[in-house]
Amino acid sequence: MTIQVVRTFSDPVLRKKADPIKQITPEIKTLARDMLETMYCSKGIGLAAPQVGVSQRIVTIDISNEGEELHPMVFINPEITKSSGQVDYEEGCLSVPGYHGVVIRPEQVTVRFQTLDGQNKTIPCKGLLARVLQHEIDHLDGVLFTDHLDVDWWESEEGQHMEKDHPRFSETTKFRTSAA
Ligand SMILES: [Zn+2]
Repeated sequence: MTIQVVRTFSDPVLRKKADPIKQITPEIKTLARDMLETMYCSKGIGLAAPQVGVSQRIVTIDISNEGEELHPMVFINPEITKSSGQVDYEEGCLSVPGYHGVVIRPEQVTVRFQTLDGQNKTIPCKGLLARVLQHEIDHLDGVLFTDHLDVDWWESEEGQHMEKDHPRFSETTKFRTSAA
């Protein structure tokens, strides 16, 4: 297994729409393993392939609590087929280190995807899993969580943390607990 370098926000690969995976080759399985390893090593709870420089539609997630048994999940070609509700939650991102922000997203989503064994699955998700999946699927479409932030909100609430070059970000040290 190889730990990959996590790309950060100025890297153009993060802004590209990733390609669907047509066949689950041994290379894709290796990529999934490397992504999980990289995610654990970076203390992230989710990772999308563009974050390690690969423009393909694959996502890894593990939302188990620290100290609990690991519960690695791999989603190939994930797609949201249904969503409902609305909830705000503070997000961070391994590709936007040092920043976090509150993002409003649907509370529940139904996600269709393939497993590493090539099985088609459709699962309803809520809570943290729904949140991380939406964040990662955004990555596959070239979207970062900072794109969802309301600039005015940050100016009124967190003005002292505004940075000239990144007006949508607010600096914090808390982000690592939920970076994806
Ligand atoms: Zn992210």
